[in-house]
Amino acid sequence: MKTIGLIGGMSWESTVSYYQALNRGVKAQMGGLHSAKLCLFSLDFDEIEKLQRQGDWPKMTQILTDAAQAVERAGADFLMICTNTMHKVAPEIAANISIPILHIADATGTKLKDDGITKVGLLGTRFTMAQDFYKGRISQHFDIEVLVPTEDEQTQIHDIIYNELCQGVIKPESKDIYSNIISLLHQKGAQGIILGCTEIALLINQGDTDVPLYDTTAIHAEQGIQWALSR
Ligand code: GLU
Repeated sequence: MKTIGLIGGMSWESTVSYYQALNRGVKAQMGGLHSAKLCLFSLDFDEIEKLQRQGDWPKMTQILTDAAQAVERAGADFLMICTNTMHKVAPEIAANISIPILHIADATGTKLKDDGITKVGLLGTRFTMAQDFYKGRISQHFDIEVLVPTEDEQTQIHDIIYNELCQGVIKPESKDIYSNIISLLHQKGAQGIILGCTEIALLINQGDTDVPLYDTTAIHAEQGIQWALSR
């Protein structure tokens, strides 16, 4: 089994989901007492969130690259960055380590393609919904059209992520807001919705809507298990 390197803590609420999914997945495939071999570098999200607001991406690149190099030195065979948003700096990290990165948008794009999706809705932080590093990768590498919510809806989604989900707060009224936006994207032609922030599945899941949901945490972890167990 390979050793999985994780950069987590963004937020730790979703790193818990990763830890559980990776261990459960390895046990499901190997049975008995088997669990995932992994090495986690968990960051202080307060520091990252402040830098995000300041737009100091060079500083964040440095922090995440240091963490990536630390998990590589600790013996990781490949790296998973446990957040969609921070994949913005994945190319710079990749250039400064010698282990491969399992990119969350590639894992998600592969799954969408396998399911025959050609038009998808994207929910995530404002960075992920508005900038091109994520949706551009999905549309260019996988030939899938990506729809995003309106500006006002993006603000609502973004604020719920930072003010509630990343702090472990789950509110029914926020679930309603997400459900509505999912329905609106579906009416605009999205055949499925990417839960493109690793905390969103803590709020809403497939039981809450008929529109197919693509939970990036689960998809990324599933691919991570495959990489870890491949020869
Ligand atoms: N975990 C979130 C994501 O997947 C948001 C927190 C962050 O900015 O990293 O994008």
